[in-house]
Amino acid sequence: KKELLLELRGKETVTLDGKRIKLYANIGSVSDIAGVLKNDASGIGLFRSEFLYLEKKDYPTEDEQLAAYKTVLENMGGKKVIIRTLDIGADKQIDYFHMEKEENPAMGCRAIRICLERKDIFKTQLRALYRASAFGNLSIMFPMIISVKEVDEILEIVEEVKNELREEGIAMGEAELGIMIETPAAVMVSDELAKKVDFFSIGTNDLTQYTLAIDRGNAKLDRYYDAHHPAVLRMIQMTVENAHKHGIRAGICGELASDMELTETFLAMGVDELSVAPSYILGLRKKIREIKIKA
Ligand code: PEP
Ligand code: MG
Repeated sequence: KKELLLELRGKETVTLDGKRIKLYANIGSVSDIAGVLKNDASGIGLFRSEFLYLEKKDYPTEDEQLAAYKTVLENMGGKKVIIRTLDIGADKQIDYFHMEKEENPAMGCRAIRICLERKDIFKTQLRALYRASAFGNLSIMFPMIISVKEVDEILEIVEEVKNELREEGIAMGEAELGIMIETPAAVMVSDELAKKVDFFSIGTNDLTQYTLAIDRGNAKLDRYYDAHHPAVLRMIQMTVENAHKHGIRAGICGELASDMELTETFLAMGVDELSVAPSYILGLRKKIREIKIKA
């Protein structure tokens, strides 16, 4: 079976009726790249950058981050690499951040909320990302968005960083900017959000957690955790429709992206990109090549 799948390397990810899907890989560290290349992903759809922070005893410096991002971009040789800015808090706590203890961390200060509160940390990461953008095809993505106001604030900080780098005479490439759609609030205002960014990536892990009000890490709630709940599927559909209405792409990077029972549904909804763990890439490519969307 493994060998049969290997034959799919180098083949296009295209349905029987000619719709091309971008099939990307999710990674958490630079060492995951080998698996991405081996499985012939079209790019990286989600680099969870918080792992750079989690594996250290203190804040990673701009140069340390630059080195990691640059390595990923160079190894991917011009293919798209979507790096997500820091997403800690909730289930991923880091001692040196000295975060206050919270009653309800999943709904507390996490991800983009920390970045907007501690702008110095955010700007260091953005500087490293823009410096790295000179070495490949970089997109930057922001997690846990709930409002247009946040996106405006982010875009302002991004401009600040780019201006500073320009003034310092540092080389930069272009970077597309996208957001994760992983809260019900973001879904409901996705028509407005779509006017602000280049792409959406749907995080079904958190979207399911916040839609069903079920802690994604609580095994005792397994029997309530319905990954195929129509509420979640309708949210995905709404997000894709609003993205396309405003001419931007919508992908899925949560675990649901690799659920082959839903692949046909996602393609029928018009999902443009799926980003999955490297080991799922070739199986999913095989599946997509057997689908006729219009049927
Ligand atoms: C998600 O929430 O679906 C997602 C991709 O992000 P993470 O699992 O890192 O929270
Ligand atoms: Mg998430």
